[in-house]
Amino acid sequence: MERRMSEQELLGSFENALKFGHIYVCYQPKMNHATGRMIGAEALMRWHDPVYGMQYPSDFIPLLERNDLICQADLFVFETVCKFQRKCLDIGVSAVPVSINMSRYDIYQKNYVDEIEHIRQKYDVPVKLLHVEITESSAIGGMELVSGVLSKLHDFGYVVEMDDFGSGYSSLNVLKDLQVDVIKLDMRFLSGNVGGRGGTIISAIVQMTKWLNTPVVAEGVETIEQADYMKSIGCNYIQGYLYSKPVNEDEFIEKLKKTDHEPVAQAIDLISTMDAGKFWNPQSLETLIFNNYVGGASIFTYQKGKIEILRVNKKFIKETGMNMTEKEVLTLDPWDCFDEKNRKIYEEALLHAIETNDEVSCETCRTLCSKICGEEELWMRSDIRMIGKAGDQYIFYSMVHNITNEKKRFEEVAESDRKLRFASEHANVYAWEYTIATKEMRPCFRCMRDLGVPPVVENYPEPLIENGLFPPDYADMYREWIHKLENGDDSLKEAIIPLTVGRIPFYVRYSLEYDENGKPLKAYGSATLVIENNDK
Ligand code: C2E
Ligand code: CA
Ligand code: CA
Repeated sequence: MERRMSEQELLGSFENALKFGHIYVCYQPKMNHATGRMIGAEALMRWHDPVYGMQYPSDFIPLLERNDLICQADLFVFETVCKFQRKCLDIGVSAVPVSINMSRYDIYQKNYVDEIEHIRQKYDVPVKLLHVEITESSAIGGMELVSGVLSKLHDFGYVVEMDDFGSGYSSLNVLKDLQVDVIKLDMRFLSGNVGGRGGTIISAIVQMTKWLNTPVVAEGVETIEQADYMKSIGCNYIQGYLYSKPVNEDEFIEKLKKTDHEPVAQAIDLISTMDAGKFWNPQSLETLIFNNYVGGASIFTYQKGKIEILRVNKKFIKETGMNMTEKEVLTLDPWDCFDEKNRKIYEEALLHAIETNDEVSCETCRTLCSKICGEEELWMRSDIRMIGKAGDQYIFYSMVHNITNEKKRFEEVAESDRKLRFASEHANVYAWEYTIATKEMRPCFRCMRDLGVPPVVENYPEPLIENGLFPPDYADMYREWIHKLENGDDSLKEAIIPLTVGRIPFYVRYSLEYDENGKPLKAYGSATLVIENNDK
C-alpha cells in the first residue's frame, strides 16, 4: 500500500531505513547548457519504504530536522557520496564534483565539518570532488556561526555553494557577507514567466553575481525556454528536469560514462586592485567614493554587442537628469537611447578601450524617455575604461558628464558661423549676426580671424567701440542705427565706416529679419572693403 507515512511511523523506522538502505542517495546532473557537458551533480536523499513506498523529502527532511536526526542523515549521505566517488576513481569512471546538502541544523552542530573531513580522508576522495551546499536561510541562526563554518570548509578546501538563492531572506546582504563559491538560483522561486517580473529579478541577480565574480547555477529548470533565457543573460549552468531528474547511482554512472565533463569556470577575471566584495558593502569606502566623489559613473558589461548595466551611482542618475532609481536604470537596455550613428561612436570607443587597455573618451547624443519628463535629448561625454573580462565578455567602468549645454551653445555658434561663412567666402565680406532680444553679436570666422573678434560679443557694439575696432567718432551714429534696427526700422541701409585699427573704409550694411508678428528678431550685418568695390 503506497502512502505517506505519519511522522510517528517515519521516526520509528528511521534507524532501520538507514541500516537497510531504504534511505539512499540519488544524483541530479548539473550541466553547461552552452556546451552540453556535465559540470557536476547534486546528491539528494531518497526514502523508499518497503511497505509504504516513496516518501517525500519535503515531509521527512523537516521532520528529521525537528528531531535532531538530520545531522546523522546528512553524514550518511556524505559518506555514501564519498564511497561513490571512491568507486568511480577505482573503476576508472571519470568523476564530477558532487554537492551535498548541509542543513542549517548541521551548522549548529559543532563538529560537523570535522566529521565530514574525517569521512573524506577515510575514503581518500580529492576534496575538489565534494562540494557543500548551504542555504541562504542558514544565516537566520546568526551570521557569525555560518561564516565560521564557511571559513572552516574553505580551509579544508571545499567548494561551497549557496543553495536556494533568491528565496527571500535578505539575499544580497547574505552574499556580500558570505563568500560562497557558487550561487544556485532556484527558478521556482521566481515563477514561470521569464519574460516578466521574474525575468527582471533573475537577470538583475545574475548581473550582480557577475560583479561578485561568482558562477551561477540555475536549478529547477524544466523547459528549454527557461534554459535559453538563462543562457541569454549569461548563465549557462543548469540543473533541472530539462536535462535529468535525480537518478540512482547506477543510472548516474551510465550518464557519467556517456556525457563529457568540464570544470566550472570562474565568472570574470576582475582587475586585482578592485575589491568586489567591498564594492557591494554600502558602508565601505569604495561605495562611498563611487557614490560621492567620482561624479556620474556606471559599471556595465559588454558582450557580443549587448550592454547590461550592473551598477550606477547616484550622481550618474543626477547627471543624466533621469527621474529614476538605480534599480530602474538597471533594467534599461542602454542601446534604446542611441540612434545608429551614436551607437557606432560608443561601440567604437568600447572596442578602442579593450584594444588599448586605456581610458577612452567619446561624446554621444542619447534620447531619454521618462514617464515624467517625456523625451529628451542629452549629450554625454563618457570616459571609459575596461576593468575586467571573461571570454568575450567585458566589464567597463565609465564616468559620464552631461555636456548638453556646452554642446547646444557650440552648435548654435557653428550654425551661424556656417551661414556667415557661406556668404563671406564669395565676396570679400565680413559678416555678423545681431540678436535683438539678447544684444548679442556673433561674427563670422573672418571677423574672428582677421579682426580678433570673440565668438560672441555681448552688449554689442560697446565692447568693439571700447577696444578701438570701431571709430569713437562714429560711435553715436552707429548706436542710433542699432537702436533703429531694434525698433524694426531699417531705413538706413548702408554707411561707409572706417573700421579696424587701420581705419579702413568699409561699406556697412544691415538687413532685418522679423518674426511672425512682425517684430524684429535679428539684424544681419556685413562689411565690404570700399577700395575693392571701387576696383571692380
Ligand atoms: P534542494 O536542495 O533545493 O534540491 C532540489 C530539489 O529540486 C530536489 O527536490 C530536486 O528533486 C528538485 N528538482 C530538481 N529539478 C527540478 C525541476 O526541474 N523541477 C522541479 N519542480 N523540481 C526539481 P527533492 O529531492 O524533493 O528535495 C527537496 C529538498 O529537500 C531539497 O531541496 C533539500 O532542501 C532537501 N534535501 C534533499 N536531500 C537532502 C539531504 O541529503 N540533506 C538535507 N539536509 N536536505 C536534503
Ligand atoms: Ca540543494
Ligand atoms: Ca535548491
